[in-house]
Amino acid sequence: TSTTVIVGGSLAGLRTAQQLRAKGYDGTLTLIGAERHLPYDRPPLSKQVLLGEWPERQTYLVTAQQLAELRVDVRLGVAATGLDRGRRLVTLADGSRMAYEHLVIATGSRPRAIPKPAGAPHVHTLRTLDDARLVAAKLAPGRRLVIIGAGFIGCEVASSAVARGVVVTLVSREPVLMPQFGPRVSDYLMALHRGAGVDLALGVDVESIGQAAGEVASIELTDGRVLHGDLVVVGIGAVPNVEWLAGTQLAGPDGVRVSRHGQTVDAAIFALGDVSAWPCAGGSGFRRSEHWSHAVEQAKIVARAIVEGTSFDPGPAVSYAWSDQYGRKFQTVGQVSAALRQVVSANWATADRQRHCLYLDHQGLVTGGLFIDSARAAGQLRRALQGQAGPVRPDSLGA
Ligand code: FAD
Repeated sequence: TSTTVIVGGSLAGLRTAQQLRAKGYDGTLTLIGAERHLPYDRPPLSKQVLLGEWPERQTYLVTAQQLAELRVDVRLGVAATGLDRGRRLVTLADGSRMAYEHLVIATGSRPRAIPKPAGAPHVHTLRTLDDARLVAAKLAPGRRLVIIGAGFIGCEVASSAVARGVVVTLVSREPVLMPQFGPRVSDYLMALHRGAGVDLALGVDVESIGQAAGEVASIELTDGRVLHGDLVVVGIGAVPNVEWLAGTQLAGPDGVRVSRHGQTVDAAIFALGDVSAWPCAGGSGFRRSEHWSHAVEQAKIVARAIVEGTSFDPGPAVSYAWSDQYGRKFQTVGQVSAALRQVVSANWATADRQRHCLYLDHQGLVTGGLFIDSARAAGQLRRALQGQAGPVRPDSLGA
Protein backbone atom coordinates (compact mmCIF):
# COMPACT_ATOMS: atom_id res chain seq x y z
CA THR A 1 0.00 0.00 0.00
CA SER A 2 1.00 3.63 -0.45
CA THR A 3 2.12 5.76 2.44
CA THR A 4 1.58 9.45 3.12
CA VAL A 5 3.46 11.08 5.95
CA ILE A 6 2.11 14.43 7.14
CA VAL A 7 4.48 16.52 9.23
CA GLY A 8 2.69 19.10 11.42
CA GLY A 9 -0.17 18.01 13.64
CA SER A 10 -2.37 21.08 13.55
CA LEU A 11 -5.06 22.52 11.32
CA ALA A 12 -3.38 22.05 7.93
CA GLY A 13 -2.04 18.58 8.70
CA LEU A 14 -5.27 17.29 10.20
CA ARG A 15 -7.44 18.68 7.41
CA THR A 16 -5.20 17.05 4.81
CA ALA A 17 -5.59 13.68 6.54
CA GLN A 18 -9.37 14.10 6.75
CA GLN A 19 -9.61 15.18 3.12
CA LEU A 20 -7.47 12.29 1.94
CA ARG A 21 -9.82 9.79 3.59
CA ALA A 22 -12.88 11.69 2.36
CA LYS A 23 -11.51 11.35 -1.17
CA GLY A 24 -11.03 7.63 -0.76
CA TYR A 25 -7.30 7.49 -0.10
CA ASP A 26 -6.68 4.00 1.19
CA GLY A 27 -2.97 4.06 1.97
CA THR A 28 -1.21 4.35 5.29
CA LEU A 29 -1.51 7.81 6.85
CA THR A 30 0.81 9.09 9.55
CA LEU A 31 0.49 12.48 11.24
CA ILE A 32 3.55 13.73 13.09
CA GLY A 33 3.25 16.65 15.51
CA ALA A 34 5.83 18.37 17.68
CA GLU A 35 3.24 19.43 20.25
CA ARG A 36 1.88 16.92 22.73
CA HIS A 37 -1.70 18.06 22.10
CA LEU A 38 -4.12 16.57 19.64
CA PRO A 39 -4.74 19.02 16.79
CA TYR A 40 -6.45 22.12 18.17
CA ASP A 41 -7.67 25.41 16.81
CA ARG A 42 -5.62 28.58 17.26
CA PRO A 43 -8.13 31.40 16.53
CA PRO A 44 -9.91 30.92 19.91
CA LEU A 45 -6.61 31.22 21.79
CA SER A 46 -6.52 35.03 21.57
CA LYS A 47 -10.30 35.29 21.87
CA GLN A 48 -12.42 32.79 23.83
CA VAL A 49 -9.51 31.23 25.75
CA LEU A 50 -8.06 34.57 26.92
CA LEU A 51 -11.55 35.81 27.71
CA GLY A 52 -12.00 32.75 29.89
CA GLU A 53 -15.12 31.79 27.92
CA TRP A 54 -13.92 28.45 26.61
CA PRO A 55 -12.29 25.59 28.44
CA GLU A 56 -9.17 24.44 26.62
CA ARG A 57 -10.77 21.20 25.48
CA GLN A 58 -13.22 23.18 23.35
CA THR A 59 -10.33 24.18 21.08
CA TYR A 60 -9.59 20.58 20.06
CA LEU A 61 -10.42 19.85 16.43
CA VAL A 62 -10.65 16.08 16.75
CA THR A 63 -10.62 13.25 19.28
CA ALA A 64 -8.15 10.38 19.43
CA GLN A 65 -11.02 8.06 18.63
CA GLN A 66 -11.98 9.98 15.49
CA LEU A 67 -8.37 9.79 14.32
CA ALA A 68 -8.34 6.06 14.94
CA GLU A 69 -11.58 5.67 12.97
CA LEU A 70 -9.94 7.56 10.09
CA ARG A 71 -7.00 5.16 10.34
CA VAL A 72 -4.58 7.98 10.99
CA ASP A 73 -1.55 6.93 12.94
CA VAL A 74 -0.68 9.95 15.12
CA ARG A 75 2.71 10.54 16.64
CA LEU A 76 2.55 13.50 18.98
CA GLY A 77 5.28 15.21 20.96
CA VAL A 78 7.95 14.32 18.43
CA ALA A 79 9.32 16.76 15.85
CA ALA A 80 10.67 15.93 12.42
CA THR A 81 14.33 16.92 12.38
CA GLY A 82 15.43 16.06 8.88
CA LEU A 83 14.40 14.99 5.40
CA ASP A 84 16.27 12.85 2.90
CA ARG A 85 14.54 13.44 -0.44
CA GLY A 86 16.68 10.95 -2.30
CA ARG A 87 15.74 8.05 -0.03
CA ARG A 88 12.30 9.46 0.81
CA LEU A 89 12.87 9.34 4.54
CA VAL A 90 11.84 11.70 7.32
CA THR A 91 13.96 11.64 10.47
CA LEU A 92 12.29 12.28 13.82
CA ALA A 93 13.70 13.74 17.04
CA ASP A 94 13.65 10.31 18.69
CA GLY A 95 16.02 9.04 16.00
CA SER A 96 13.43 6.98 14.14
CA ARG A 97 12.89 7.25 10.41
CA MET A 98 9.73 7.13 8.36
CA ALA A 99 9.51 6.21 4.70
CA TYR A 100 6.95 7.92 2.50
CA GLU A 101 5.55 7.82 -0.96
CA HIS A 102 3.98 11.25 -0.48
CA LEU A 103 5.12 13.77 2.09
CA VAL A 104 3.00 16.70 3.27
CA ILE A 105 4.75 19.62 4.96
CA ALA A 106 2.38 21.35 7.38
CA THR A 107 4.72 22.64 10.07
CA GLY A 108 3.18 26.12 10.31
CA SER A 109 4.94 29.10 11.75
CA ARG A 110 6.10 30.42 15.08
CA PRO A 111 6.18 33.92 16.56
CA ARG A 112 9.02 36.14 15.49
CA ALA A 113 11.26 36.66 18.49
CA ILE A 114 12.03 40.08 19.88
CA PRO A 115 15.58 40.55 21.11
CA LYS A 116 15.32 40.85 24.86
CA PRO A 117 17.85 40.68 27.63
CA ALA A 118 18.01 37.35 29.40
CA GLY A 119 15.96 37.25 32.54
CA ALA A 120 13.27 39.75 31.55
CA PRO A 121 10.25 38.29 33.29
CA HIS A 122 6.83 37.57 31.91
CA VAL A 123 7.54 38.17 28.23
CA HIS A 124 5.23 35.94 26.22
CA THR A 125 4.21 35.19 22.69
CA LEU A 126 0.86 33.66 21.78
CA ARG A 127 0.90 30.78 19.37
CA THR A 128 0.17 27.57 21.25
CA LEU A 129 -2.38 26.31 23.72
CA ASP A 130 0.38 26.25 26.32
CA ASP A 131 1.13 29.94 25.62
CA ALA A 132 -2.55 30.84 25.92
CA ARG A 133 -2.84 28.95 29.20
CA LEU A 134 0.12 30.90 30.67
CA VAL A 135 -1.11 34.29 29.49
CA ALA A 136 -4.75 33.68 30.47
CA ALA A 137 -3.68 32.77 34.00
CA LYS A 138 -1.98 36.15 34.35
CA LEU A 139 -4.91 38.30 33.18
CA ALA A 140 -6.41 39.73 36.34
CA PRO A 141 -8.12 43.06 37.04
CA GLY A 142 -5.67 45.88 37.61
CA ARG A 143 -2.62 44.07 36.24
CA ARG A 144 -0.60 45.92 33.65
CA LEU A 145 -0.14 44.34 30.24
CA VAL A 146 2.14 45.78 27.58
CA ILE A 147 1.49 44.44 24.07
CA ILE A 148 4.12 44.90 21.40
CA GLY A 149 2.76 44.80 17.86
CA ALA A 150 -0.56 46.03 16.46
CA GLY A 151 -1.45 43.28 14.01
CA PHE A 152 -4.18 40.66 14.42
CA ILE A 153 -2.68 39.11 17.54
CA GLY A 154 -1.81 42.37 19.33
CA CYS A 155 -5.23 43.90 18.71
CA GLU A 156 -7.12 40.74 19.74
CA VAL A 157 -5.08 40.30 22.91
CA ALA A 158 -5.78 43.96 23.80
CA SER A 159 -9.50 43.44 23.31
CA SER A 160 -9.61 40.24 25.39
CA ALA A 161 -7.38 41.57 28.18
CA VAL A 162 -9.33 44.83 28.58
CA ALA A 163 -12.51 42.82 28.94
CA ARG A 164 -10.90 41.10 31.92
CA GLY A 165 -10.08 44.37 33.65
CA VAL A 166 -6.42 44.43 32.67
CA VAL A 167 -4.72 47.79 32.13
CA VAL A 168 -3.42 47.60 28.56
CA THR A 169 -0.81 49.57 26.63
CA LEU A 170 -0.41 48.66 22.97
CA VAL A 171 2.94 49.60 21.44
CA SER A 172 3.60 49.59 17.70
CA ARG A 173 6.37 50.77 15.47
CA GLU A 174 3.72 51.71 12.91
CA PRO A 175 1.70 54.89 13.46
CA VAL A 176 -1.51 52.95 12.76
CA LEU A 177 -3.29 49.78 13.89
CA MET A 178 -3.40 46.78 11.54
CA PRO A 179 -1.46 48.74 8.90
CA GLN A 180 -2.30 46.43 6.00
CA PHE A 181 -5.88 47.77 5.92
CA GLY A 182 -5.02 51.44 5.50
CA PRO A 183 -5.78 54.61 7.47
CA ARG A 184 -9.60 54.56 7.47
CA VAL A 185 -9.76 51.15 9.08
CA SER A 186 -6.99 52.10 11.49
CA ASP A 187 -8.89 55.24 12.57
CA TYR A 188 -11.93 53.11 13.29
CA LEU A 189 -9.86 50.58 15.24
CA MET A 190 -8.07 53.28 17.20
CA ALA A 191 -11.40 54.73 18.32
CA LEU A 192 -12.55 51.26 19.37
CA HIS A 193 -9.41 50.49 21.37
CA ARG A 194 -9.20 53.91 22.99
CA GLY A 195 -12.90 53.84 23.78
CA ALA A 196 -12.33 50.61 25.67
CA GLY A 197 -9.50 52.18 27.66
CA VAL A 198 -6.44 50.86 25.81
CA ASP A 199 -3.48 53.24 25.86
CA LEU A 200 -1.98 53.36 22.35
CA ALA A 201 1.73 54.10 21.95
CA LEU A 202 2.03 54.20 18.16
CA GLY A 203 4.87 55.11 15.84
CA VAL A 204 7.42 54.18 18.45
CA ASP A 205 9.73 51.18 18.72
CA VAL A 206 10.98 49.15 21.65
CA GLU A 207 14.52 50.00 22.65
CA SER A 208 14.90 47.29 25.27
CA ILE A 209 12.98 45.04 27.61
CA GLY A 210 14.49 44.63 31.03
CA GLN A 211 13.54 43.94 34.58
CA ALA A 212 12.41 46.68 36.93
CA ALA A 213 12.05 46.14 40.66
CA GLY A 214 10.52 42.79 41.57
CA GLU A 215 8.91 40.75 38.85
CA VAL A 216 7.97 43.70 36.69
CA ALA A 217 9.19 44.05 33.12
CA SER A 218 10.34 47.50 32.07
CA ILE A 219 9.97 48.36 28.41
CA GLU A 220 12.06 51.25 27.20
CA LEU A 221 10.71 52.93 24.07
CA THR A 222 12.71 54.79 21.45
CA ASP A 223 11.05 58.08 22.45
CA GLY A 224 12.51 57.74 25.94
CA ARG A 225 9.34 56.57 27.67
CA VAL A 226 9.59 53.61 30.01
CA LEU A 227 6.53 51.37 30.47
CA HIS A 228 6.08 48.87 33.26
CA GLY A 229 4.25 45.62 32.76
CA ASP A 230 3.34 42.72 35.00
CA LEU A 231 3.09 40.94 31.70
CA VAL A 232 4.32 41.55 28.14
CA VAL A 233 2.88 39.92 25.01
CA VAL A 234 4.86 40.23 21.80
CA GLY A 235 2.99 39.86 18.49
CA ILE A 236 5.32 41.06 15.76
CA GLY A 237 4.72 38.48 13.07
CA ALA A 238 5.65 34.89 12.46
CA VAL A 239 8.37 32.91 10.73
CA PRO A 240 7.88 29.57 8.94
CA ASN A 241 9.05 26.36 10.64
CA VAL A 242 11.45 25.15 7.95
CA GLU A 243 14.66 24.40 9.84
CA TRP A 244 14.08 20.66 9.59
CA LEU A 245 14.19 21.03 5.79
CA ALA A 246 17.74 22.41 5.75
CA GLY A 247 19.70 21.16 2.77
CA THR A 248 16.63 19.93 0.85
CA GLN A 249 16.31 22.99 -1.46
CA LEU A 250 12.60 23.08 -0.62
CA ALA A 251 12.48 26.04 1.73
CA GLY A 252 13.64 29.62 1.86
CA PRO A 253 13.07 32.44 4.31
CA ASP A 254 9.56 32.92 2.91
CA GLY A 255 8.64 29.30 3.55
CA VAL A 256 8.11 26.37 1.21
CA ARG A 257 7.16 27.48 -2.28
CA VAL A 258 4.49 25.43 -3.98
CA SER A 259 2.49 25.34 -7.20
CA ARG A 260 -1.27 26.03 -7.47
CA HIS A 261 -1.70 22.38 -6.46
CA GLY A 262 0.43 22.75 -3.35
CA GLN A 263 3.23 20.73 -4.93
CA THR A 264 6.85 21.58 -4.23
CA VAL A 265 9.66 21.24 -6.78
CA ASP A 266 9.75 17.59 -5.65
CA ALA A 267 6.65 15.92 -7.13
CA ALA A 268 6.31 13.61 -4.09
CA ILE A 269 6.23 16.49 -1.63
CA PHE A 270 3.42 18.95 -0.93
CA ALA A 271 3.14 21.84 1.49
CA LEU A 272 0.26 23.89 2.85
CA GLY A 273 -0.84 26.19 5.62
CA ASP A 274 1.26 28.82 7.35
CA VAL A 275 4.58 27.25 6.31
CA SER A 276 3.80 27.41 2.59
CA ALA A 277 4.06 30.16 -0.01
CA TRP A 278 1.51 29.82 -2.84
CA PRO A 279 1.55 31.65 -6.17
CA CYS A 280 -0.03 35.09 -5.93
CA ALA A 281 -3.12 35.88 -8.00
CA GLY A 282 -1.97 37.23 -11.34
CA GLY A 283 1.21 35.19 -11.22
CA SER A 284 3.40 37.78 -9.52
CA GLY A 285 5.50 35.87 -7.02
CA PHE A 286 4.68 33.70 -4.02
CA ARG A 287 3.09 34.59 -0.73
CA ARG A 288 2.67 33.01 2.66
CA SER A 289 -0.78 33.96 3.91
CA GLU A 290 -1.30 32.84 7.43
CA HIS A 291 -5.03 32.44 7.77
CA TRP A 292 -7.24 29.64 8.97
CA SER A 293 -9.43 29.29 5.88
CA HIS A 294 -6.38 29.14 3.61
CA ALA A 295 -5.11 26.03 5.39
CA VAL A 296 -8.58 24.48 5.10
CA GLU A 297 -8.95 25.27 1.38
CA GLN A 298 -5.39 24.21 0.59
CA ALA A 299 -5.96 20.85 2.31
CA LYS A 300 -8.72 20.06 -0.20
CA ILE A 301 -6.39 20.85 -3.10
CA VAL A 302 -3.40 18.92 -1.72
CA ALA A 303 -5.48 15.84 -0.87
CA ARG A 304 -7.03 15.86 -4.32
CA ALA A 305 -3.60 16.23 -5.96
CA ILE A 306 -2.28 13.24 -4.00
CA VAL A 307 -5.27 11.09 -4.93
CA GLU A 308 -5.79 12.24 -8.54
CA GLY A 309 -2.61 13.88 -9.70
CA THR A 310 -2.23 17.51 -10.63
CA SER A 311 -4.15 17.87 -13.88
CA PHE A 312 -7.28 19.46 -12.34
CA ASP A 313 -7.87 23.22 -12.14
CA PRO A 314 -7.76 24.25 -8.48
CA GLY A 315 -9.76 27.41 -9.28
CA PRO A 316 -9.16 30.93 -8.05
CA ALA A 317 -7.99 31.27 -4.46
CA VAL A 318 -9.92 34.11 -2.83
CA SER A 319 -8.37 35.09 0.46
CA TYR A 320 -10.59 35.11 3.54
CA ALA A 321 -9.79 35.90 7.17
CA TRP A 322 -11.51 37.26 10.24
CA SER A 323 -10.79 38.87 13.57
CA ASP A 324 -12.95 39.45 16.64
CA GLN A 325 -12.37 42.56 18.71
CA TYR A 326 -14.66 44.22 21.27
CA GLY A 327 -17.58 42.04 20.25
CA ARG A 328 -17.26 43.06 16.62
CA LYS A 329 -16.52 40.69 13.77
CA PHE A 330 -14.05 41.84 11.14
CA GLN A 331 -13.94 39.84 7.91
CA THR A 332 -11.55 40.39 5.04
CA VAL A 333 -12.15 39.02 1.57
CA GLY A 334 -9.90 39.03 -1.47
CA GLN A 335 -6.92 41.28 -1.89
CA VAL A 336 -6.72 44.09 0.62
CA SER A 337 -3.78 46.42 0.97
CA ALA A 338 -3.06 49.91 2.23
CA ALA A 339 -1.49 50.51 -1.19
CA LEU A 340 -4.83 50.07 -2.98
CA ARG A 341 -7.49 52.77 -3.25
CA GLN A 342 -10.01 52.50 -0.43
CA VAL A 343 -13.68 53.36 -0.61
CA VAL A 344 -15.70 53.17 2.59
CA SER A 345 -19.43 52.53 2.81
CA ALA A 346 -21.62 55.64 3.04
CA ASN A 347 -22.39 54.87 6.66
CA TRP A 348 -18.72 54.46 7.65
CA ALA A 349 -18.64 57.44 9.99
CA THR A 350 -22.14 57.08 11.40
CA ALA A 351 -23.14 53.44 11.68
CA ASP A 352 -22.66 51.81 15.03
CA ARG A 353 -21.83 48.49 13.47
CA GLN A 354 -22.38 47.25 9.90
CA ARG A 355 -19.95 48.95 7.57
CA HIS A 356 -17.24 48.09 5.09
CA CYS A 357 -14.18 49.34 3.27
CA LEU A 358 -13.55 48.19 -0.31
CA TYR A 359 -10.17 48.02 -2.02
CA LEU A 360 -9.99 48.96 -5.71
CA ASP A 361 -7.46 48.37 -8.43
CA HIS A 362 -6.36 51.09 -10.86
CA GLN A 363 -9.41 50.39 -13.04
CA GLY A 364 -11.74 51.01 -10.14
CA LEU A 365 -12.69 47.34 -9.79
CA VAL A 366 -13.00 45.69 -6.40
CA THR A 367 -10.12 43.44 -5.41
CA GLY A 368 -11.22 42.90 -1.83
CA GLY A 369 -12.93 44.30 1.20
CA LEU A 370 -12.92 44.58 4.96
CA PHE A 371 -16.32 44.10 6.57
CA ILE A 372 -17.37 44.95 10.10
CA ASP A 373 -20.37 43.01 11.41
CA SER A 374 -21.48 42.60 7.80
CA ALA A 375 -21.25 38.89 7.16
CA ARG A 376 -23.78 39.03 4.34
CA ALA A 377 -21.90 41.60 2.33
CA ALA A 378 -18.64 39.76 3.01
CA GLY A 379 -20.17 36.53 1.73
CA GLN A 380 -21.53 38.32 -1.33
CA LEU A 381 -18.11 39.67 -2.27
CA ARG A 382 -16.44 36.34 -1.60
CA ARG A 383 -18.84 34.58 -3.97
CA ALA A 384 -18.49 37.33 -6.57
CA LEU A 385 -14.70 37.12 -6.55
CA GLN A 386 -14.77 33.33 -6.66
CA GLY A 387 -17.33 33.14 -9.44
CA GLN A 388 -17.02 33.80 -13.11
CA ALA A 389 -19.55 36.64 -13.13
CA GLY A 390 -16.95 39.14 -14.27
CA PRO A 391 -15.43 42.15 -12.55
CA VAL A 392 -16.95 43.43 -9.33
CA ARG A 393 -17.84 47.13 -9.24
CA PRO A 394 -17.96 49.01 -5.97
CA ASP A 395 -21.59 50.13 -6.38
CA SER A 396 -22.69 46.47 -6.57
CA LEU A 397 -21.93 46.28 -2.83
CA GLY A 398 -23.55 49.54 -1.90
CA ALA A 399 -20.40 51.50 -1.18
P1 FAD B 1 0.10 25.74 12.73
O1 FAD B 1 -1.24 25.95 13.31
O2 FAD B 1 1.22 26.63 13.12
O3 FAD B 1 0.53 24.23 13.04
C1 FAD B 1 1.76 23.68 12.72
C2 FAD B 1 2.04 22.54 13.66
O4 FAD B 1 3.23 21.89 13.25
C3 FAD B 1 2.26 23.00 15.10
O5 FAD B 1 1.52 22.20 15.97
C4 FAD B 1 3.76 22.79 15.29
O6 FAD B 1 4.10 22.46 16.61
C5 FAD B 1 4.03 21.63 14.37
N1 FAD B 1 5.43 21.54 13.97
C6 FAD B 1 6.28 22.56 13.70
N2 FAD B 1 7.49 22.08 13.34
C7 FAD B 1 7.40 20.72 13.38
C8 FAD B 1 8.32 19.67 13.11
N3 FAD B 1 9.56 19.90 12.71
N4 FAD B 1 7.88 18.40 13.26
C9 FAD B 1 6.61 18.15 13.65
N5 FAD B 1 5.70 19.11 13.92
C10 FAD B 1 6.10 20.38 13.78
N6 FAD B 1 -6.59 32.95 11.32
C11 FAD B 1 -7.77 33.46 10.90
O7 FAD B 1 -8.08 33.36 9.71
N7 FAD B 1 -8.62 34.07 11.77
C12 FAD B 1 -8.32 34.24 13.08
O8 FAD B 1 -9.10 34.82 13.83
C13 FAD B 1 -7.06 33.74 13.56
N8 FAD B 1 -6.73 33.87 14.86
C14 FAD B 1 -5.52 33.39 15.29
C15 FAD B 1 -5.18 33.56 16.62
C16 FAD B 1 -3.95 33.10 17.10
C17 FAD B 1 -3.59 33.30 18.54
C18 FAD B 1 -3.05 32.47 16.21
C19 FAD B 1 -1.71 31.96 16.71
C20 FAD B 1 -3.38 32.28 14.88
C21 FAD B 1 -4.63 32.75 14.40
N9 FAD B 1 -5.01 32.59 13.07
C22 FAD B 1 -6.21 33.09 12.63
C23 FAD B 1 -4.12 31.90 12.10
C24 FAD B 1 -4.43 30.41 12.01
O9 FAD B 1 -4.55 29.87 13.28
C25 FAD B 1 -3.30 29.73 11.22
O10 FAD B 1 -3.37 30.20 9.90
C26 FAD B 1 -3.40 28.21 11.25
O11 FAD B 1 -3.21 27.74 12.55
C27 FAD B 1 -2.40 27.58 10.30
O12 FAD B 1 -2.40 26.20 10.47
P2 FAD B 1 -1.13 25.31 10.14
O13 FAD B 1 -1.54 23.92 10.46
O14 FAD B 1 -0.59 25.64 8.82
O15 FAD B 1 0.02 25.80 11.15
